[in-house]
Amino acid sequence: MELEGKCALITGGSRGIGAALVEKFVAAGCDVGFTYRSSQEQAEALAKSLSASGRKVKAYASDASDYNEAEALVQEFLTDFGKLDTLINNAGITKDTLMLRMSEAQWDDVIHVNLKSVFNLTKHAIKPMIRAQNGVILNMSSVVGVFGNAGQANYAASKAGIIGFTKSIAKELGSRNVRCNAIAPGFIETDMTHQLDEKTKEGFLANIPLKRLAKADEVADLCIFLSSDRASYITGQTISICGGLNM
Ligand code: NAP
Repeated sequence: MELEGKCALITGGSRGIGAALVEKFVAAGCDVGFTYRSSQEQAEALAKSLSASGRKVKAYASDASDYNEAEALVQEFLTDFGKLDTLINNAGITKDTLMLRMSEAQWDDVIHVNLKSVFNLTKHAIKPMIRAQNGVILNMSSVVGVFGNAGQANYAASKAGIIGFTKSIAKELGSRNVRCNAIAPGFIETDMTHQLDEKTKEGFLANIPLKRLAKADEVADLCIFLSSDRASYITGQTISICGGLNM
């Protein structure tokens, strides 16, 4: 019960890494609010099944890329939960294609959902954290934001942007005891990586010393540690969880 008594808000909790975060945070004693954009049935079912544990768990329909929706979400979360200890900016999408073929819409969509969302949620979440002189923000970046990747210029730019944002927020808010770190997952088994063709996957596996993709639970365990008081001196970092992948 490492997160007993804490409250977390997680974006994109209906599937994949986000759903693993929701489940593991609840199991660690945390009350959790999480968002989804379109998977209402899945999100409501997850919230219902986890509520049986006795923890408070609530799903919110909220588009993280929309500034006004993010503001309303944080207000509603605070009314429902009373405080906000951890914000995890996890929601993300890919619209992969080579630069020659990339449309303006493919660029804008990925930057809005992956990067502007992090600004939107952080902007409103830090007010109660500063007041409480306590808070943790975790931003889901990617190894692709660190190394770049052909066919993912939009995604890589959004994820690299998150790293610069994270370091800046850590510097701005360290004196208020608000910590901010980025996570850089490698290849995790979710819907996002199921879209990859076998040849691409084999190529990645050849460069992963641990010779497998990660489970979403493994990312969740890292986030639990970073949210806990045991990580009280860690801020402004980008922590890779990638099986040793060197792209
Ligand atoms: P996923 O399985 O595709 O799930 C994405 C989640 O984000 C879903 O819950 C989705 O909600 C939500 N979402 C998408 N757009 C949203 C929006 N505008 N507002 C609110 N929620 C939104 O993805 P994943 O693989 O778990 O990835 C989670 C995060 O980790 C992403 O930021 C991704 O870039 C990052 N990451 C993933 C990997 C990987 O290998 N999987 C590697 C590195 C980094 P709906 O269900 O309603 O669509």
